[in-house]
Amino acid sequence: MAKAQRECINETQAKAEFESFQAKAPPTTSAYVPSGRFPFGALLWNIVGSGLGAAAGAVAGTAVMGLTLGAVSLFAMLLIGAFESGIIHIGGIIMGVIAAVAALGCIYFAIGWAATECVAYFSRIGKSRNIKGLFLFSVISAVAATVAFRWPVLSRVFSYVGIAEIDHVGKPIAWIFGGSVFAWVITVLGLGVAAFAAVAVAGGRQENLKFCEDCDRTMAIDKLPSVSLDGVVRAVVAVNSQQWAGAAEALRTCTQLNEAKPKVYQCPRCGSGYLELAVNINWAIRGYKQTEGGNFTAQWLAGSWALTGGQIEPFRRR
Ligand SMILES: [Zn+2]
Repeated sequence: MAKAQRECINETQAKAEFESFQAKAPPTTSAYVPSGRFPFGALLWNIVGSGLGAAAGAVAGTAVMGLTLGAVSLFAMLLIGAFESGIIHIGGIIMGVIAAVAALGCIYFAIGWAATECVAYFSRIGKSRNIKGLFLFSVISAVAATVAFRWPVLSRVFSYVGIAEIDHVGKPIAWIFGGSVFAWVITVLGLGVAAFAAVAVAGGRQENLKFCEDCDRTMAIDKLPSVSLDGVVRAVVAVNSQQWAGAAEALRTCTQLNEAKPKVYQCPRCGSGYLELAVNINWAIRGYKQTEGGNFTAQWLAGSWALTGGQIEPFRRR
C-alpha cells in the first residue's frame, strides 16, 4: 500500500524539488471537454433525485443530530443558564459556541451532502453532462431537505420522544430547533451550509464523470494504485513520445508513494477513453511537527490524454 510521501530537510529544499518536478510534468488542462448536454431523461431523473435527496438529507441530518446532541445541548444549556442567572461564564460560553458551531455545521453539511449524493446518482442514470443542472437540482434538494429536517422530521421526533419534557437536554434542544428568533437564524445559516455542501459535493461528482458522446455511454473509472512524482515524470515523458506501454510500465514499477493518483476512464462500448494523472503532494518538513504547519502541499493535473482502446490496454489494472 502506498501511503507515505517524501520528507524534506527544509522549506527551500521542498520548493526546489517541487519546481523541478513541475517543470518536468507541468500543469495541464483536462483533455475531456463535457458536451454540457442535458437530455429530457436527465431532467426527469434529476427531479426524482432531488425528491429522494430531500428525504435522504432529512434522515442524514436527524442521524447526525442524534450523534452531536451532547455538543448542541451543552451550548444551549450554558446560554440559557447565563440568561437566567445573569452570570456569564465567558470561557464556558466560548467552548459551548465552538462545540455548537461544529455540531450544527456537521448536521447541515450532512443534509446537503446526502441530498446531493442522491441527485448525482440519478443524474448519472439520466446521462446528464451538464454541471449547472446538477448544481441547480442539488441545491434545490439540499434546501428541501433542510426544510424537511427542520419541520416534519424534527417536530415528529420531538413529540415522539417528548423532548421538551426532558429538563436538561430537551429544553435547550427544543429552544435551539424551536420557534425562537435564534432558532430561525440558525435555520437560515443552516440553509447556507447545506447549499454550500451541495455545490462542493456536486462539483466533485461531476469532475469524475466522463461520457462517450459517440456511444451515449458513461465511461467506467479504473483507479490505479498511487504513484510517486518520479513515476509521473517518467509516464509524461513516455506519453509525449507515444510510448503507451512504457508509460504504463513507469506507473507500475515506480516507487509507490502517495503523491499522484492515475485514473483511467474507458467507454464500456467502444473502449476509447482518457488517462489522467492528478498530483497531490503533502511533504513533511523535518524538524517541524505536523501541527505546526511544517508541510509542503501542492496540487495540479500533470497529465490528461484522450486514448484509443488499444492505447488504454496497457494501463488497465490487473
Ligand atoms: Zn464509446
